[in-house]
Amino acid sequence: MSANWLDFGTGAYALLGGSNIGVIAREGRAIMIDAGLDRSTAKKAWRQIETLGARLEALVITHGHADHFGGAGWIAERGIPIYAPALEGVFAMHPLLEPLFLYGGAAPIRELQGKFTLAQDSVPHIKALTPGALTLAGLALNLIPLPGHAPAQLGVAYGDVLYCGDVVFPEETLARHPILFCTDLDAWLETLDGLLVLPYARFVPGHGESVTEIAPLAKANAARLQEIRDQAWAALADPCESGAVLRAVAAHFDVTFAAPQFYLLALTTIHAALTSLQRAGAAAVEMAENRMLWRRS
Ligand SMILES: [Zn+2]
Repeated sequence: MSANWLDFGTGAYALLGGSNIGVIAREGRAIMIDAGLDRSTAKKAWRQIETLGARLEALVITHGHADHFGGAGWIAERGIPIYAPALEGVFAMHPLLEPLFLYGGAAPIRELQGKFTLAQDSVPHIKALTPGALTLAGLALNLIPLPGHAPAQLGVAYGDVLYCGDVVFPEETLARHPILFCTDLDAWLETLDGLLVLPYARFVPGHGESVTEIAPLAKANAARLQEIRDQAWAALADPCESGAVLRAVAAHFDVTFAAPQFYLLALTTIHAALTSLQRAGAAAVEMAENRMLWRRS
């Protein structure tokens, strides 16, 4: 057994790695939660399931980011059905969508075509999931909506364990990448608030260690999102374009982007912060001499 293989008892397991994979196995039947970055990580989880004497019957993808579904194509080749929230699953069926989105809908630059943003394998068919109770492979699951980091992310609860995707990032990630990737800042804050009262004893995020208390991480991630939004607003002392807001927020966090993909990931978060300010009536967008300017309102 690998040192990164955790057994929580009651049939719930996790394979910790660059991105974590959940496994639930009971009476010879198993499901996997997320598939890792590529086929080699999916294979590792597959082997762990074999050592349990179980057969994989389904893969559930929490959200449509390549580091979570990159290994799903290899699982699909084995005839295993793949499940995901509909809006997230389309990314696994069409991996080009992720770099396409990050590049504003245009054919993505080379820097967005690495496997962290462009999965190497696609999944031919996804079965759509909605929040609520679901029995898969004889396992009674509860699917919990966790939008914000991704628009329709779902967590998978089994017994007292919640596999919660990227609803929180560990402290190390918050320190290394202060402008955490976000598509809907308001939705994420609401999700983090709700997380505090969920009745689970063990949380397995998509990155980092599993935890028994989610509150410290939920609060740290919420505080960071609020700080990003506050700094975006502070950047609007004079009307400016979103790129200038990003530079100001990056300067606040002492971030220097080493490559275009990191800049573009953070720009998405700035766009989410500006949308949040617009919703709150704190900022407005207008055109001036072919510049899309954000200003305080
Ligand atoms: Zn993610």
